[in-house]
Amino acid sequence: MNRVYDLAIIGGGAAGLMAAAWISEKYRDSESRPSVVLLEKMPRCGRKINITGKGRCNLTNTRMWDEFSPHVHPNSQFFKNAFYNFSSHDTMDFFKSIGLELSVERGQRVYPKSMRAMDVTDALVNHIRRCAVVETVTGFEVKEISRDDLFCIKSEQETILSKKVLLTTGGLSYPSTGSSGDGYAFAKALGHSIVHCRPSLTALIPSGYREKDGTLLPFGKSLQGLQLKNVSLSLEVNSNVVQEEFGDVDFTDGGIEGSLGFRLSRKAVEALDNGQKVALLLDLKPALSEDQITQRIKREASSGNNTVKYLLSKLLPRQLVTPFLMMNRQLLSMHNAEAARLLPALLKSLRFDIVSYVGFERCVVTNGGVSLKEVSQKTMESKLAPGLFFAGEVLDLDGDTGGYNLQIAFSTAVLAVSGIMSAAQ
Ligand SMILES: Cc1cc2nc3c(=O)[nH]c(=O)nc-3n(C[C@H](O)[C@H](O)[C@H](O)COP(=O)(O)OP(=O)(O)OC[C@H]3O[C@@H](n4cnc5c(N)ncnc54)[C@H](O)[C@@H]3O)c2cc1C
Repeated sequence: MNRVYDLAIIGGGAAGLMAAAWISEKYRDSESRPSVVLLEKMPRCGRKINITGKGRCNLTNTRMWDEFSPHVHPNSQFFKNAFYNFSSHDTMDFFKSIGLELSVERGQRVYPKSMRAMDVTDALVNHIRRCAVVETVTGFEVKEISRDDLFCIKSEQETILSKKVLLTTGGLSYPSTGSSGDGYAFAKALGHSIVHCRPSLTALIPSGYREKDGTLLPFGKSLQGLQLKNVSLSLEVNSNVVQEEFGDVDFTDGGIEGSLGFRLSRKAVEALDNGQKVALLLDLKPALSEDQITQRIKREASSGNNTVKYLLSKLLPRQLVTPFLMMNRQLLSMHNAEAARLLPALLKSLRFDIVSYVGFERCVVTNGGVSLKEVSQKTMESKLAPGLFFAGEVLDLDGDTGGYNLQIAFSTAVLAVSGIMSAAQ
């Protein structure tokens, strides 16, 4: 006879671990503890947390709702309840209460003081272990979930029965961490619709940058490694500018990324998938008008050297001079004065035609997932399969870079736990 749990949490990533840690906190001193199991397919929980924030884990952002919500897509209203129930400040208080010291950095981003992402995972895992409320089973890959009176959760070897299920299997990004989209199939089998999934917060690939197999072409090689600070980047779709952002851009082996590239990638990927023409326009001198750049060029040229290469070497980071000329070859066949006249406009709007993007294997988050229309925003419970709850990236909810995605995972997990526990009473 199989044991029947009150709750099975499927997936020990950010949302699953937070749900388990929150239940542990609520019931650690209680005599009537629910029986809860956390099932994780990898040998250890939290593999994705360990690679977040370049290994430092930007676990939340201290912005209040009005400034936080524009960073949540596609429907921040759905998330409002979860955020108010467990805000970024609650996240910080909770982590501090379980022994993790925190530090607030530029952009109101919160990191562990140690700057080690692994410490975030360890804080949650150790808290769950200490409280001994939730049983954690790793190496348990759920293959199927069906529902009769109880949920029946099957791996290749075992079957577990549970009165309720919390699905926290994450999205499709970085499948090597265990998040390979399994939850969508489970949700679908239980009656849910899945909003088409696309990579988001991902590198955008300019024309002529790399081969299909990822090998860099000369243009990509010339740009790879370049980091630009305080520039402005606009996204153009079918010749209309649809988004403009200010900040930092990184050119990597993937293409154009960094905070600006990532921020524009959500709309850019959607547009490319819809067959629209996509370009990025880079303003290398956002603080200067074209007239001011013209004055600057005149000053530089007064030294006697007014070749376009010399002027660019004075105006651009060294690594950008060659690719800039590769993108604007016409300058090399012009008279110096004529080329100099064109420079201000080109520096304010360097055009990269975007032909593709880096896929799920290396994107930060999934755009799409379990349709929010079929989930209660008050409890995270399915409107179609009572007793089934969702939290984290498996939902059609994603955030920008800056700690928004982990906060989405934490807030939805805590709200789901409240929903599960109040339904049990
Ligand atoms: C490189 C990178 C950097 C990032 N940096 C940040 C950052 O600094 N700040 C931020 O806010 N966000 C960041 N994110 C995004 C953030 O990590 C995710 O949005 C968040 O982890 C989602 O939490 P989750 O619990 O929903 O899913 P996940 O953390 O992906 O966890 C899902 C878990 O479910 C398990 N699982 C899946 N299928 C099964 C199955 N069939 N059976 C059992 N278990 C299963 C997986 O193994 C995994 O452990 C980053 C993402 C990446 C890829």
